[in-house]
Amino acid sequence: MTVQMRLQAVKDAMAKAEREAGRPAGAVTLVAVSKTFEAEDIRPAIEAGQRVFGENRVQEAQGKWPGLKAERAGIELHLIGPLQSNKAADAVSLFDVIETVDREKIARALAVEMEKLGKRPRLYVQVNTGLEPQKAGIAPDDTAAFLTLCRDELGLSIEGLMCIPPADENPGPHFALLAMLASENGVEKLSMGMSGDYETAIAFGATSVRVGSAIFGSR
Ligand SMILES: *Cc1c(COP(=O)(O)O)cnc(C)c1O
Repeated sequence: MTVQMRLQAVKDAMAKAEREAGRPAGAVTLVAVSKTFEAEDIRPAIEAGQRVFGENRVQEAQGKWPGLKAERAGIELHLIGPLQSNKAADAVSLFDVIETVDREKIARALAVEMEKLGKRPRLYVQVNTGLEPQKAGIAPDDTAAFLTLCRDELGLSIEGLMCIPPADENPGPHFALLAMLASENGVEKLSMGMSGDYETAIAFGATSVRVGSAIFGSR
């Protein structure tokens, strides 16, 4: 199967999941996760009309995306991996959306760099719904206070919440928790669901899904 065929299959499955959930067609944005793949692997997806992409490392993305963005207008790039504060300026420069605001230090660094660079990527707060010690993210119980800090003290507008459920658990309850936290806190968007569970995430209200291996193949 080619990248184009797999991309189409994912889009068809997303459309079906939207219908089954009683949601409008096109309600969910596909973020095609291209981490570890080279520009020549990514180009066929761009040729097929895909415009929204996700990368999990700033440095890796800097190697391939400035060139790809120059080739085609309308590319939207999402950072979906952990961000170090010494990379905040680079992230603000390159990414259109940063989905992994996960601690106060990063929120402060982003606020400073956004001011300096005069560029405001859209921001999501990552929530560690499974309270996994090895995983980044704000604890569910701390989400309201963290959003208040971002909004009121740092002047950051937070567009969405993002989560990565524990690999060995049923993701449904995690997606439901993220949706509840968003609605309680007046956050509009939900980034949840990956290759294995994006249809479930759409049923629970995802507004974007981050799909890598189902499109580009295994890493
Ligand atoms: C790699 C990654 C994905 C995509 O995972 P697949 O299982 O390949 O679809 C989604 N979200 C994050 C945060 C990732 O790091």
